[in-house]
Amino acid sequence: MPICPKCHSEYRPGVTHCTDDGTELVDNLPADDMTSVTLEEVYATVSSVEAERIRGLLEAESIACYVRVLRSRAFPTAIGADSTSRIAVPRYQIERAVELIKQARADGVVSSDGNLLG
Ligand SMILES: [Zn+2]
Repeated sequence: MPICPKCHSEYRPGVTHCTDDGTELVDNLPADDMTSVTLEEVYATVSSVEAERIRGLLEAESIACYVRVLRSRAFPTAIGADSTSRIAVPRYQIERAVELIKQARADGVVSSDGNLLG
């Protein structure tokens, strides 16, 4: 899907220039442009193993993926017991990511313990 490298708006196939800023659209943003991309969390799970599995799954589809671990206590009593892994992807890839996670759950690749966000 064509995307504006400047404002990251997505357009229908066939559109060549951004209607907002006139920038020429590209098919994919270069990987080194990730710092300027807005991340959104798509999935939360208490299983770090599952988080890593989903990360692998998304990265295999060229979706840049970030896992953030949140701890509900400052000093967890057991490793992993009090933490939640949250998976974030660039906003413009969120629909694809959700689709992949849903598919993985339907296929039993990941458990249904986690929560799709948003
Ligand atoms: Zn634009």
